[in-house]
Amino acid sequence: RHPVGSAGDASSAPTPPVTPTEAVRRARAVFASGVTRPVDWRLARLAELRRLLTEQEDVLCAALHDDLRKSRTEAMVTEVGFLVREVDHTRRHLAGWLRPRRVPVPLTLGGGRASVVPEPLGVVTVIAPWNYPVQLCLSPVLGALAAGNTVVLKPSELAPATSRALATLLPRYVGEGAVQVVEGGVAETTELLSRRVDHVFYTGNGTVGRVVLEAAARHLTPVTLELGGKSPAYVDPSADLAVTARRLVWGKFTNAGQTCIAPDYVLATPAVLDRLTPLLARAVEDFFGDDPRRSDDFGRIVSDRHVQRLAGLLEGQRCVTGGGVDAAERYVAPTVLADVDPASAVMAEEIFGPVLPLVAVPDLDAAIAFVVERDKPLALYVFADDPLVERRFERETSSGALAVNMPLAHVAVPDLPFGGVGASGTGSYHGRASVELFSHHKPVLRQRTRPDTAALLYPPSRSLRARL
Ligand code: NAD
Repeated sequence: RHPVGSAGDASSAPTPPVTPTEAVRRARAVFASGVTRPVDWRLARLAELRRLLTEQEDVLCAALHDDLRKSRTEAMVTEVGFLVREVDHTRRHLAGWLRPRRVPVPLTLGGGRASVVPEPLGVVTVIAPWNYPVQLCLSPVLGALAAGNTVVLKPSELAPATSRALATLLPRYVGEGAVQVVEGGVAETTELLSRRVDHVFYTGNGTVGRVVLEAAARHLTPVTLELGGKSPAYVDPSADLAVTARRLVWGKFTNAGQTCIAPDYVLATPAVLDRLTPLLARAVEDFFGDDPRRSDDFGRIVSDRHVQRLAGLLEGQRCVTGGGVDAAERYVAPTVLADVDPASAVMAEEIFGPVLPLVAVPDLDAAIAFVVERDKPLALYVFADDPLVERRFERETSSGALAVNMPLAHVAVPDLPFGGVGASGTGSYHGRASVELFSHHKPVLRQRTRPDTAALLYPPSRSLRARL
Protein backbone atom coordinates (compact mmCIF):
# COMPACT_ATOMS: atom_id res chain seq x y z
CA ARG A 1 0.00 0.00 0.00
CA HIS A 2 2.89 2.35 0.70
CA PRO A 3 5.32 2.28 -2.20
CA VAL A 4 8.96 2.56 -1.23
CA GLY A 5 9.94 6.02 -2.29
CA SER A 6 12.76 7.82 -3.92
CA ALA A 7 12.92 11.55 -4.55
CA GLY A 8 11.55 10.83 -8.02
CA ASP A 9 8.50 9.04 -6.66
CA ALA A 10 7.15 12.02 -4.83
CA SER A 11 7.49 14.35 -7.79
CA SER A 12 6.53 11.95 -10.56
CA ALA A 13 3.31 10.55 -9.11
CA PRO A 14 1.04 13.58 -9.01
CA THR A 15 -2.16 13.32 -7.05
CA PRO A 16 -5.12 15.07 -8.66
CA PRO A 17 -5.16 18.66 -7.38
CA VAL A 18 -7.93 19.48 -4.95
CA THR A 19 -9.42 22.96 -4.80
CA PRO A 20 -9.38 24.60 -1.36
CA THR A 21 -13.19 24.61 -1.28
CA GLU A 22 -13.37 20.91 -2.10
CA ALA A 23 -10.64 20.12 0.45
CA VAL A 24 -12.61 21.84 3.22
CA ARG A 25 -15.80 20.06 2.11
CA ARG A 26 -14.08 16.67 2.29
CA ALA A 27 -12.46 17.37 5.65
CA ARG A 28 -15.81 18.56 6.99
CA ALA A 29 -17.59 15.41 5.79
CA VAL A 30 -15.03 13.14 7.46
CA PHE A 31 -15.28 15.04 10.73
CA ALA A 32 -19.08 15.13 10.62
CA SER A 33 -19.20 11.35 10.25
CA GLY A 34 -17.88 11.11 13.82
CA VAL A 35 -15.04 8.70 13.02
CA THR A 36 -12.35 10.96 14.45
CA ARG A 37 -13.61 10.86 18.03
CA PRO A 38 -12.31 7.53 19.36
CA VAL A 39 -8.74 7.70 20.59
CA ASP A 40 -7.89 4.58 18.55
CA TRP A 41 -8.72 6.39 15.31
CA ARG A 42 -6.35 9.19 16.29
CA LEU A 43 -3.57 6.80 17.30
CA ALA A 44 -3.95 4.99 13.99
CA ARG A 45 -3.49 8.25 12.05
CA LEU A 46 -0.39 9.07 14.13
CA ALA A 47 1.04 5.62 13.43
CA GLU A 48 0.50 6.23 9.68
CA LEU A 49 2.23 9.58 9.95
CA ARG A 50 5.15 7.90 11.68
CA ARG A 51 5.36 5.32 8.90
CA LEU A 52 5.39 8.09 6.31
CA LEU A 53 8.29 9.77 8.12
CA THR A 54 10.40 6.64 8.44
CA GLU A 55 9.64 4.93 5.12
CA GLN A 56 9.90 8.14 3.11
CA GLU A 57 12.84 9.65 4.98
CA ASP A 58 14.95 9.69 1.79
CA VAL A 59 12.22 11.42 -0.23
CA LEU A 60 11.71 14.08 2.43
CA CYS A 61 15.45 14.70 2.87
CA ALA A 62 15.89 14.96 -0.91
CA ALA A 63 13.04 17.49 -1.13
CA LEU A 64 14.61 19.56 1.67
CA HIS A 65 17.91 19.46 -0.16
CA ASP A 66 16.22 20.60 -3.38
CA ASP A 67 14.43 23.48 -1.67
CA LEU A 68 17.06 24.73 0.79
CA ARG A 69 20.15 22.55 0.28
CA LYS A 70 19.73 21.22 3.80
CA SER A 71 22.27 18.58 4.73
CA ARG A 72 20.87 15.18 5.62
CA THR A 73 21.99 15.57 9.23
CA GLU A 74 20.24 18.91 9.56
CA ALA A 75 17.11 17.59 7.82
CA MET A 76 16.97 14.65 10.21
CA VAL A 77 17.70 16.60 13.39
CA THR A 78 15.43 19.58 12.75
CA GLU A 79 12.64 18.09 10.65
CA VAL A 80 12.14 14.36 10.05
CA GLY A 81 13.66 12.94 13.26
CA PHE A 82 12.18 15.83 15.25
CA LEU A 83 8.71 14.80 14.08
CA VAL A 84 9.22 11.10 14.76
CA ARG A 85 10.05 11.98 18.37
CA GLU A 86 7.01 14.23 18.63
CA VAL A 87 4.70 11.55 17.20
CA ASP A 88 6.08 9.01 19.68
CA HIS A 89 5.69 11.37 22.62
CA THR A 90 2.10 12.16 21.64
CA ARG A 91 1.14 8.52 21.07
CA ARG A 92 2.59 7.59 24.46
CA HIS A 93 0.67 10.24 26.39
CA LEU A 94 -2.46 10.91 24.34
CA ALA A 95 -4.92 8.78 26.29
CA GLY A 96 -3.85 10.48 29.54
CA TRP A 97 -4.08 13.97 28.05
CA LEU A 98 -7.63 13.29 26.84
CA ARG A 99 -8.92 12.11 30.20
CA PRO A 100 -11.67 14.40 31.56
CA ARG A 101 -10.45 16.51 34.49
CA ARG A 102 -12.68 16.53 37.58
CA VAL A 103 -13.08 19.91 39.29
CA PRO A 104 -14.55 20.65 42.74
CA VAL A 105 -18.18 21.78 43.02
CA PRO A 106 -19.19 24.44 45.61
CA LEU A 107 -21.19 23.22 48.60
CA THR A 108 -24.21 25.23 47.47
CA LEU A 109 -24.42 22.86 44.50
CA GLY A 110 -24.08 19.86 46.79
CA GLY A 111 -24.24 16.51 45.09
CA GLY A 112 -23.15 17.85 41.72
CA ARG A 113 -20.17 16.56 39.76
CA ALA A 114 -18.18 18.76 37.42
CA SER A 115 -15.49 17.98 34.90
CA VAL A 116 -13.69 19.48 31.93
CA VAL A 117 -13.95 17.28 28.85
CA PRO A 118 -11.72 17.92 25.82
CA GLU A 119 -13.52 17.61 22.49
CA PRO A 120 -12.25 18.13 18.95
CA LEU A 121 -12.93 21.45 17.23
CA GLY A 122 -13.71 20.12 13.75
CA VAL A 123 -11.73 21.14 10.66
CA VAL A 124 -8.35 22.78 11.22
CA THR A 125 -6.59 24.73 8.47
CA VAL A 126 -2.78 24.70 8.67
CA ILE A 127 -0.90 27.25 6.57
CA ALA A 128 2.85 26.65 6.68
CA PRO A 129 6.01 28.52 5.64
CA TRP A 130 9.03 27.36 3.63
CA ASN A 131 11.89 27.45 6.15
CA TYR A 132 11.25 24.16 7.96
CA PRO A 133 8.71 22.99 5.44
CA VAL A 134 8.32 19.44 6.74
CA GLN A 135 8.35 20.20 10.47
CA LEU A 136 6.10 23.26 10.27
CA CYS A 137 3.54 21.41 8.14
CA LEU A 138 3.42 18.16 10.05
CA SER A 139 3.88 19.24 13.67
CA PRO A 140 0.56 21.16 13.76
CA VAL A 141 -1.05 18.42 11.63
CA LEU A 142 -0.12 15.75 14.15
CA GLY A 143 -1.40 17.87 17.04
CA ALA A 144 -4.70 18.54 15.26
CA LEU A 145 -5.18 14.84 14.45
CA ALA A 146 -4.32 13.82 18.01
CA ALA A 147 -7.05 16.15 19.24
CA GLY A 148 -9.54 14.42 16.91
CA ASN A 149 -9.81 16.98 14.11
CA THR A 150 -9.48 16.68 10.37
CA VAL A 151 -7.00 18.94 8.61
CA VAL A 152 -6.59 20.99 5.46
CA LEU A 153 -2.88 21.64 4.99
CA LYS A 154 -1.43 24.34 2.72
CA PRO A 155 2.36 23.97 2.44
CA SER A 156 4.44 26.90 1.22
CA GLU A 157 4.82 27.41 -2.50
CA LEU A 158 8.35 28.71 -1.81
CA ALA A 159 9.47 25.17 -0.90
CA PRO A 160 7.95 23.47 -3.98
CA ALA A 161 9.73 20.12 -3.75
CA THR A 162 8.58 19.62 -0.17
CA SER A 163 5.08 20.84 -0.97
CA ARG A 164 4.87 18.26 -3.80
CA ALA A 165 6.25 15.47 -1.65
CA LEU A 166 3.73 16.13 1.14
CA ALA A 167 0.82 16.47 -1.30
CA THR A 168 1.76 13.09 -2.76
CA LEU A 169 2.62 11.19 0.39
CA LEU A 170 0.06 12.37 2.95
CA PRO A 171 -2.99 10.98 1.12
CA ARG A 172 -1.10 7.72 0.49
CA TYR A 173 -0.19 7.20 4.10
CA VAL A 174 -2.67 8.97 6.33
CA GLY A 175 -5.97 7.24 5.77
CA GLU A 176 -9.67 8.03 5.89
CA GLY A 177 -9.32 11.48 4.35
CA ALA A 178 -8.01 12.82 7.65
CA VAL A 179 -5.62 15.26 5.95
CA GLN A 180 -6.40 17.15 2.74
CA VAL A 181 -3.48 18.92 1.09
CA VAL A 182 -3.95 22.05 -0.99
CA GLU A 183 -0.93 23.27 -2.93
CA GLY A 184 -0.49 26.81 -4.19
CA GLY A 185 0.21 30.40 -3.27
CA VAL A 186 -1.73 33.54 -2.49
CA ALA A 187 -4.77 32.72 -4.68
CA GLU A 188 -5.29 29.27 -3.17
CA THR A 189 -4.65 30.50 0.37
CA THR A 190 -7.12 33.34 -0.12
CA GLU A 191 -9.79 30.89 -1.30
CA LEU A 192 -8.99 28.55 1.59
CA LEU A 193 -9.29 31.38 4.11
CA SER A 194 -12.69 32.34 2.71
CA ARG A 195 -14.14 28.95 3.75
CA ARG A 196 -15.48 28.45 7.25
CA VAL A 197 -13.36 26.10 9.36
CA ASP A 198 -13.05 25.65 13.12
CA HIS A 199 -9.45 26.77 13.67
CA VAL A 200 -6.76 28.38 11.53
CA PHE A 201 -3.14 27.68 12.41
CA TYR A 202 -0.77 30.02 10.55
CA THR A 203 3.03 30.09 10.65
CA GLY A 204 4.84 32.87 8.81
CA ASN A 205 5.31 36.61 8.79
CA GLY A 206 3.22 39.20 10.59
CA THR A 207 1.97 40.94 7.44
CA VAL A 208 0.24 37.79 6.21
CA GLY A 209 -0.69 37.05 9.84
CA ARG A 210 -2.92 40.14 9.73
CA VAL A 211 -4.53 38.93 6.48
CA VAL A 212 -5.23 35.55 8.11
CA LEU A 213 -6.71 37.14 11.22
CA GLU A 214 -9.01 39.39 9.19
CA ALA A 215 -10.23 36.51 7.03
CA ALA A 216 -10.88 34.32 10.08
CA ALA A 217 -12.72 37.16 11.84
CA ARG A 218 -15.44 36.99 9.18
CA HIS A 219 -16.34 33.50 10.42
CA LEU A 220 -15.42 34.11 14.09
CA THR A 221 -12.84 31.35 13.66
CA PRO A 222 -10.14 31.18 16.32
CA VAL A 223 -6.59 31.62 15.03
CA THR A 224 -3.13 30.65 16.16
CA LEU A 225 -0.37 32.85 14.76
CA GLU A 226 3.19 31.56 14.90
CA LEU A 227 5.10 34.63 13.78
CA GLY A 228 8.68 35.85 13.94
CA GLY A 229 10.65 38.99 14.67
CA LYS A 230 14.09 39.73 16.07
CA SER A 231 15.23 37.28 18.78
CA PRO A 232 18.06 38.90 20.79
CA ALA A 233 21.00 37.14 22.46
CA TYR A 234 22.60 38.87 25.44
CA VAL A 235 26.12 37.74 26.34
CA ASP A 236 27.05 38.52 29.93
CA PRO A 237 30.62 39.04 31.19
CA SER A 238 30.13 35.89 33.31
CA ALA A 239 29.45 33.69 30.23
CA ASP A 240 31.74 30.93 29.04
CA LEU A 241 32.66 32.76 25.86
CA ALA A 242 34.26 29.86 23.97
CA VAL A 243 31.11 27.73 24.26
CA THR A 244 28.85 30.75 23.78
CA ALA A 245 30.56 31.61 20.48
CA ARG A 246 30.13 28.07 19.14
CA ARG A 247 26.48 27.89 20.19
CA LEU A 248 25.69 31.29 18.72
CA VAL A 249 27.30 30.33 15.42
CA TRP A 250 25.45 27.01 15.39
CA GLY A 251 22.10 28.63 16.31
CA LYS A 252 22.48 31.45 13.80
CA PHE A 253 23.83 29.61 10.77
CA THR A 254 21.70 26.45 10.93
CA ASN A 255 19.48 26.55 7.81
CA ALA A 256 21.54 29.59 6.71
CA GLY A 257 19.91 31.70 9.41
CA GLN A 258 16.37 31.08 8.10
CA THR A 259 15.05 29.97 11.47
CA CYS A 260 12.29 31.84 13.29
CA ILE A 261 14.09 31.39 16.64
CA ALA A 262 17.64 32.01 15.37
CA PRO A 263 19.53 34.52 17.51
CA ASP A 264 18.95 37.60 15.39
CA TYR A 265 21.63 39.84 16.95
CA VAL A 266 24.03 39.91 19.91
CA LEU A 267 24.00 42.45 22.73
CA ALA A 268 27.08 42.72 24.97
CA THR A 269 29.38 45.26 26.51
CA PRO A 270 32.34 46.45 24.39
CA ALA A 271 34.75 44.48 26.61
CA VAL A 272 32.79 41.24 26.08
CA LEU A 273 32.49 41.90 22.34
CA ASP A 274 36.29 42.38 22.09
CA ARG A 275 36.80 38.87 23.42
CA LEU A 276 33.77 37.26 21.74
CA THR A 277 34.33 38.54 18.18
CA PRO A 278 37.45 36.48 17.30
CA LEU A 279 35.86 33.41 18.88
CA LEU A 280 32.82 33.79 16.62
CA ALA A 281 35.04 34.10 13.53
CA ARG A 282 36.96 31.00 14.60
CA ALA A 283 33.76 28.99 15.18
CA VAL A 284 32.52 29.89 11.68
CA GLU A 285 35.77 28.58 10.21
CA ASP A 286 35.76 25.45 12.40
CA PHE A 287 32.21 24.58 11.36
CA PHE A 288 32.17 25.54 7.67
CA GLY A 289 35.86 25.73 6.60
CA ASP A 290 37.56 28.67 4.93
CA ASP A 291 35.08 28.57 2.02
CA PRO A 292 31.61 27.86 3.47
CA ARG A 293 30.26 27.72 -0.09
CA ARG A 294 31.90 24.31 -0.38
CA SER A 295 30.58 23.05 2.97
CA ASP A 296 27.81 20.44 2.84
CA ASP A 297 26.62 21.81 6.18
CA PHE A 298 25.79 25.31 5.02
CA GLY A 299 22.48 25.90 3.23
CA ARG A 300 21.20 28.34 0.63
CA ILE A 301 18.75 31.23 0.70
CA VAL A 302 15.23 30.30 -0.35
CA SER A 303 14.74 32.83 -3.17
CA ASP A 304 16.46 35.51 -5.23
CA ARG A 305 14.34 38.18 -3.57
CA HIS A 306 15.65 37.21 -0.14
CA VAL A 307 19.26 37.17 -1.45
CA GLN A 308 18.81 40.74 -2.68
CA ARG A 309 17.22 41.77 0.60
CA LEU A 310 20.12 40.31 2.62
CA ALA A 311 22.74 41.87 0.31
CA GLY A 312 21.05 45.22 0.95
CA LEU A 313 21.31 44.74 4.74
CA LEU A 314 25.10 44.25 4.41
CA GLU A 315 25.66 47.60 2.71
CA GLY A 316 27.81 49.98 4.74
CA GLN A 317 28.44 47.40 7.51
CA ARG A 318 31.82 46.18 8.80
CA CYS A 319 32.17 42.41 8.38
CA VAL A 320 34.32 40.57 10.90
CA THR A 321 33.88 37.44 8.85
CA GLY A 322 31.90 36.59 5.69
CA GLY A 323 30.11 39.28 3.72
CA GLY A 324 30.23 37.44 0.39
CA VAL A 325 27.13 37.04 -1.76
CA ASP A 326 26.78 34.87 -4.87
CA ALA A 327 23.35 35.65 -6.24
CA ALA A 328 23.49 32.97 -8.95
CA GLU A 329 23.93 30.30 -6.29
CA ARG A 330 21.61 31.99 -3.78
CA TYR A 331 24.57 31.94 -1.41
CA VAL A 332 25.12 34.43 1.39
CA ALA A 333 28.24 33.70 3.45
CA PRO A 334 27.99 33.22 7.22
CA THR A 335 28.59 36.82 8.24
CA VAL A 336 29.33 38.56 11.54
CA LEU A 337 28.96 42.36 11.64
CA ALA A 338 30.82 44.48 14.20
CA ASP A 339 29.95 47.91 15.67
CA VAL A 340 26.39 47.80 14.40
CA ASP A 341 24.36 50.96 14.89
CA PRO A 342 20.95 50.10 16.41
CA ALA A 343 19.42 52.58 13.95
CA SER A 344 20.75 50.75 10.86
CA ALA A 345 18.55 48.76 8.46
CA VAL A 346 19.89 45.41 9.66
CA MET A 347 18.44 46.20 13.10
CA ALA A 348 15.07 47.36 11.77
CA GLU A 349 13.65 44.02 10.55
CA GLU A 350 14.01 40.30 11.24
CA ILE A 351 17.18 39.28 9.37
CA PHE A 352 16.15 35.71 8.50
CA GLY A 353 19.51 34.96 6.91
CA PRO A 354 23.14 34.20 7.86
CA VAL A 355 24.02 37.65 9.19
CA LEU A 356 24.83 38.23 12.87
CA PRO A 357 25.11 41.86 14.03
CA LEU A 358 27.04 42.62 17.22
CA VAL A 359 25.57 45.58 19.10
CA ALA A 360 27.38 47.21 22.02
CA VAL A 361 25.49 48.18 25.18
CA PRO A 362 27.06 49.79 28.26
CA ASP A 363 25.76 47.26 30.79
CA LEU A 364 23.12 44.73 31.82
CA ASP A 365 20.50 47.42 32.55
CA ALA A 366 20.94 48.83 29.06
CA ALA A 367 20.65 45.36 27.52
CA ILE A 368 17.35 44.74 29.33
CA ALA A 369 16.07 48.17 28.32
CA PHE A 370 17.07 47.46 24.69
CA VAL A 371 14.94 44.29 24.69
CA VAL A 372 11.97 45.78 26.54
CA GLU A 373 11.73 48.83 24.24
CA ARG A 374 11.19 46.63 21.17
CA ASP A 375 8.54 44.11 20.05
CA LYS A 376 8.27 41.08 22.33
CA PRO A 377 10.59 38.53 20.71
CA LEU A 378 9.77 34.92 19.82
CA ALA A 379 12.88 33.79 21.71
CA LEU A 380 15.27 35.56 24.04
CA TYR A 381 18.70 34.10 24.71
CA VAL A 382 20.88 34.84 27.71
CA PHE A 383 24.42 33.54 27.88
CA ALA A 384 25.59 33.85 31.48
CA ASP A 385 26.91 31.96 34.44
CA ASP A 386 25.14 34.12 36.98
CA PRO A 387 21.69 33.26 38.38
CA LEU A 388 21.01 36.93 39.13
CA VAL A 389 21.41 37.85 35.48
CA GLU A 390 19.16 34.98 34.39
CA ARG A 391 16.54 35.95 36.93
CA ARG A 392 16.55 39.59 35.91
CA PHE A 393 15.81 38.65 32.29
CA GLU A 394 13.14 36.20 33.43
CA ARG A 395 11.38 38.83 35.57
CA GLU A 396 11.95 42.01 33.61
CA THR A 397 11.39 40.96 29.99
CA SER A 398 8.64 39.19 28.05
CA SER A 399 9.26 36.83 25.12
CA GLY A 400 7.76 33.73 23.52
CA ALA A 401 10.48 31.73 25.25
CA LEU A 402 13.58 32.42 27.35
CA ALA A 403 16.59 30.14 26.99
CA VAL A 404 19.80 30.30 28.96
CA ASN A 405 23.10 29.28 27.32
CA MET A 406 21.46 27.40 24.44
CA PRO A 407 19.77 28.64 21.30
CA LEU A 408 17.04 26.73 19.38
CA ALA A 409 16.89 23.69 21.70
CA HIS A 410 13.74 24.67 23.60
CA VAL A 411 11.77 23.88 20.45
CA ALA A 412 12.73 20.23 20.91
CA VAL A 413 11.45 19.85 24.47
CA PRO A 414 8.05 18.32 23.74
CA ASP A 415 6.44 19.44 26.99
CA LEU A 416 7.43 23.10 26.55
CA PRO A 417 4.65 25.01 24.76
CA PHE A 418 6.10 26.74 21.70
CA GLY A 419 4.77 30.09 20.51
CA GLY A 420 5.12 33.83 20.58
CA VAL A 421 3.68 36.72 22.54
CA GLY A 422 2.57 40.10 21.20
CA ALA A 423 4.11 40.73 17.79
CA SER A 424 5.80 37.31 17.76
CA GLY A 425 2.50 35.45 17.80
CA THR A 426 -0.47 34.25 19.73
CA GLY A 427 -1.16 30.70 20.94
CA SER A 428 1.30 27.88 21.43
CA TYR A 429 1.68 24.21 20.52
CA HIS A 430 3.84 21.04 20.68
CA GLY A 431 3.13 17.93 22.72
CA ARG A 432 0.33 18.37 25.20
CA ALA A 433 -0.01 22.06 24.30
CA SER A 434 -1.02 21.03 20.76
CA VAL A 435 -3.77 18.74 22.00
CA GLU A 436 -5.02 21.52 24.26
CA LEU A 437 -4.83 24.09 21.47
CA PHE A 438 -6.84 21.99 19.01
CA SER A 439 -9.50 20.98 21.56
CA HIS A 440 -12.47 22.71 23.09
CA HIS A 441 -12.36 22.24 26.84
CA LYS A 442 -16.01 21.62 27.50
CA PRO A 443 -17.25 22.12 31.05
CA VAL A 444 -19.78 19.48 32.03
CA LEU A 445 -21.90 19.73 35.22
CA ARG A 446 -24.02 16.77 36.35
CA GLN A 447 -26.61 17.32 39.07
CA ARG A 448 -28.88 14.78 40.77
CA THR A 449 -32.60 15.51 40.92
CA ARG A 450 -33.34 14.15 44.43
CA PRO A 451 -33.11 15.57 46.98
CA ASP A 452 -33.92 18.75 45.04
CA THR A 453 -31.02 20.89 46.22
CA ALA A 454 -32.08 23.70 43.87
CA ALA A 455 -35.30 24.25 45.83
CA LEU A 456 -33.83 27.28 47.59
CA LEU A 457 -33.39 29.03 44.26
CA TYR A 458 -37.00 28.82 43.11
CA PRO A 459 -39.37 31.81 43.28
CA PRO A 460 -41.40 33.21 44.84
CA SER A 461 -38.65 34.88 46.85
CA ARG A 462 -41.13 35.73 49.66
CA SER A 463 -41.51 32.09 50.42
CA LEU A 464 -37.70 31.80 50.44
CA ARG A 465 -37.66 34.09 53.51
CA ALA A 466 -40.24 31.83 55.10
CA ARG A 467 -38.15 28.80 54.29
CA LEU A 468 -35.09 30.33 55.98
P1 NAD B 1 5.87 32.09 3.37
O1 NAD B 1 6.18 33.17 2.39
O2 NAD B 1 6.05 30.67 2.95
O3 NAD B 1 4.37 32.35 3.87
C1 NAD B 1 3.75 31.50 4.79
C2 NAD B 1 2.43 31.02 4.21
O4 NAD B 1 1.57 32.12 3.96
C3 NAD B 1 2.58 30.27 2.89
O5 NAD B 1 1.83 29.08 2.94
C4 NAD B 1 2.05 31.25 1.88
O6 NAD B 1 1.47 30.62 0.76
C5 NAD B 1 1.02 32.02 2.66
N1 NAD B 1 0.82 33.37 2.13
C6 NAD B 1 1.76 34.21 1.63
N2 NAD B 1 1.20 35.38 1.26
C7 NAD B 1 -0.13 35.28 1.51
C8 NAD B 1 -1.25 36.18 1.36
N3 NAD B 1 -1.12 37.41 0.85
N4 NAD B 1 -2.46 35.76 1.76
C9 NAD B 1 -2.62 34.53 2.26
N5 NAD B 1 -1.59 33.65 2.43
C10 NAD B 1 -0.37 34.01 2.07
O7 NAD B 1 6.72 32.23 4.68
P2 NAD B 1 7.27 33.55 5.38
O8 NAD B 1 6.14 34.37 5.89
O9 NAD B 1 8.32 34.20 4.54
O10 NAD B 1 7.99 32.85 6.62
C11 NAD B 1 8.99 33.49 7.30
C12 NAD B 1 8.44 34.15 8.55
O11 NAD B 1 7.80 33.17 9.33
C13 NAD B 1 9.48 34.76 9.42
O12 NAD B 1 9.01 35.97 9.94
C14 NAD B 1 9.66 33.73 10.52
O13 NAD B 1 10.16 34.26 11.72
C15 NAD B 1 8.29 33.22 10.67
N6 NAD B 1 8.30 31.88 11.21
C16 NAD B 1 7.75 31.67 12.43
C17 NAD B 1 7.78 30.42 12.99
C18 NAD B 1 7.19 30.13 14.32
O14 NAD B 1 7.06 28.96 14.66
N7 NAD B 1 6.79 31.12 15.10
C19 NAD B 1 8.38 29.37 12.29
C20 NAD B 1 8.92 29.63 11.03
C21 NAD B 1 8.86 30.89 10.50
